[in-house]
Amino acid sequence: MKKSNFWQTRFGFFVILVLTFAAKDLFAAYCDFNLGLSDPYQHFIMWLSPFGLAAAIISLGLYVPRPRLSYLTMLLLDLANTILLFANVVYYRQFNDFLTIKTIQNTSKVSQGLGKSTVALLKPQDILIWIDLIIIIALLAMGKLKIDQRSYGIGSAFAATNATCFMLVLNLFLAETSRPRLLVNTFDRSYVVKYLGLDTFTAYDMFKSARSSSVKKNANADELNQILTFTQQNYAQPNSAYFGKARGKNVIIIHLESFQQFLINLKVNGQEVTPFLNSIYKSKHTLAFDNFYHQVGLGRTSDAENMLETGTFGLSDGSAFTSIGSENTFQAAPQILRQRGYTSAVFHGNTGTFWNRNEVYKNLGYNYFFDANYFSNQKNDKIGYGLKDKLLFAESIKYLERMQQPFYVKYLTVTNHIPFDMDESDTDPNFKTTNTSDTTVNNYFETAHYLDQAVQESFTYLHKSGLYKNSLIIIYGDHYGLSDSDNAAVAPIIGKSADNWTNYDTVEMQKVPYMIHMSGLKGGIKHEVGGEIDALPTLLHLLGINSQQYVNFGTDLLSKQHRSAVVFRNGTIVTKKYVILSTRSKHPILYDAQNGQQLTWKSLSQAEQKRLKKLIKFELQSLHFSDMLNNRNLLRFYTPAGFVPDQPTQFDYKTNYQQMERIRKQAGDRSTALYSQNNGSTTSDYQTDASELKNRRSEIDSIDQTKLNKLNPTKSKTTQK
Ligand code: MN
Repeated sequence: MKKSNFWQTRFGFFVILVLTFAAKDLFAAYCDFNLGLSDPYQHFIMWLSPFGLAAAIISLGLYVPRPRLSYLTMLLLDLANTILLFANVVYYRQFNDFLTIKTIQNTSKVSQGLGKSTVALLKPQDILIWIDLIIIIALLAMGKLKIDQRSYGIGSAFAATNATCFMLVLNLFLAETSRPRLLVNTFDRSYVVKYLGLDTFTAYDMFKSARSSSVKKNANADELNQILTFTQQNYAQPNSAYFGKARGKNVIIIHLESFQQFLINLKVNGQEVTPFLNSIYKSKHTLAFDNFYHQVGLGRTSDAENMLETGTFGLSDGSAFTSIGSENTFQAAPQILRQRGYTSAVFHGNTGTFWNRNEVYKNLGYNYFFDANYFSNQKNDKIGYGLKDKLLFAESIKYLERMQQPFYVKYLTVTNHIPFDMDESDTDPNFKTTNTSDTTVNNYFETAHYLDQAVQESFTYLHKSGLYKNSLIIIYGDHYGLSDSDNAAVAPIIGKSADNWTNYDTVEMQKVPYMIHMSGLKGGIKHEVGGEIDALPTLLHLLGINSQQYVNFGTDLLSKQHRSAVVFRNGTIVTKKYVILSTRSKHPILYDAQNGQQLTWKSLSQAEQKRLKKLIKFELQSLHFSDMLNNRNLLRFYTPAGFVPDQPTQFDYKTNYQQMERIRKQAGDRSTALYSQNNGSTTSDYQTDASELKNRRSEIDSIDQTKLNKLNPTKSKTTQK
């Protein structure tokens, strides 16, 4: 008897609302959102999430003294949670993403997603999101659920809020154990939703967006002028021997995930790990740099992309892509090149929301973004962070060949990503990796070897199809793959000793390859000290575009005035002569860059000390100005001469294929797409030994219309009529 009474109390009503909300919240998480839940622990953490903030919000209704009003408040708060959930479910169907404050403010986009086309996006199952509220209200109206007229103490309300806040903290704590620094480094909105639920995600997004808008409000054009003065003084003039050497060529960027310089020419068990990349490295048509460093911070892969395409650093406290990438003004490579007639695209086998790319790429000016939705999707096609590299290259051709030339395209590989897992069927039986006690190290060589083969297959196609002779190919490693914990195992393999490993050796490990390859290019292995920040001016000058008017914090690697120093995101500086750590402290730590010996500050002459102090100041200033530029979105105050800013909303990555085909057909005989020039597809030129595609050649050769229609549900529904 007591038990049945419970539901007729005010607290019982609260519990009913929380339980029913949790039920539909989890229903949506499983049926509507693709959250990539991998292990049981993640499921468990997700089940906790609705009992945190969402329940805390409903509990506020318990504080209202008058019974009727208290019930009503709880219902309204539950309704608000439900609306948020429903809006996200519908929005997700169209955009594969969650609603952010910025999206909500940007009404055109919301009406695009939630306006008249909403009906087309509804599914019968959506009734489940509303049914609980309907039943509860009906039960109240029929008197089956009675409003408990007894007074409810504020202490009891407080206890309920406390319990829900405890759940919220527990949820945050468990999420932290599964995915450290989740909120500091929000690399993907779906991760935050998966671990913390929609309410917490939305609250966090509100907080972030309020903070960044207050920073931006106080910004002004004077700050920009200060930065412009700095970068103009730092400008390095192009080298006439290279300026314009690649004018009008296609640009193909191959982003080698977690690929370190020491892999180049490395042998394990007597075999080269990456024979093909080694051959490119040594080619007389390759400009290779053996003192080139990654400079990424918390934004990792996205920081590398940011530096290579905007010429500015990533942020000190997180990923620029995720924290400011949705709203900032950029003057990035795809935009700069469009004014020279280029079309741009990214091929990437992970979901588009990862690192917020689906939003950022629009602001960078990318015409097309081919994410996981555009590629094969069987269970064995993917590992770790998405589509396997061999499949990515192979399946991209049917899109690439339909793009107008010249194009600027980027391949973001993923297979060589920690923990460097690989399916047995993808390993090369002729390649024997190391047998150290560190599995990460052993795996690393296998995935690097696989990546090498993937790149080779794509090169073979470039040659066969004829694209090779019209293209400049840039190959680079984004950041380290092995971290400090792997040093002991890897040291003997790369000719070092784990026993006297120093900070200098750790700095050496931050070297990544940077190679520029083009038929007829006068190559060579260059020893200039440089980093990712130098890539954009180097590329622009090769393409015959002067970079002076753009805000670049690096300098052309080929310029005689190239600034031969590199600063890491943590302040470490490398020059030809020194490796300098703890640059922000009073007594920076010095190493001889040539032999790795530690040096004392006192052993330097007064003049040399002064010179180094000045150098440190300059490099830190450079980081500071870059952060100021990005955090305050200062480029919105500046339009370089001849630069026409893009409208990010002009891009729609759900209809890439349809857009390319429309342009190709409109151009008719003037179409510069390879498909048009060849009078048909070139995919038959693509050969891969990927076991996954053995009996599925159509993944390479044909366009899957069902897949494309699925990407664009409203469009396909209306055209069916
Ligand atoms: Mn990466």
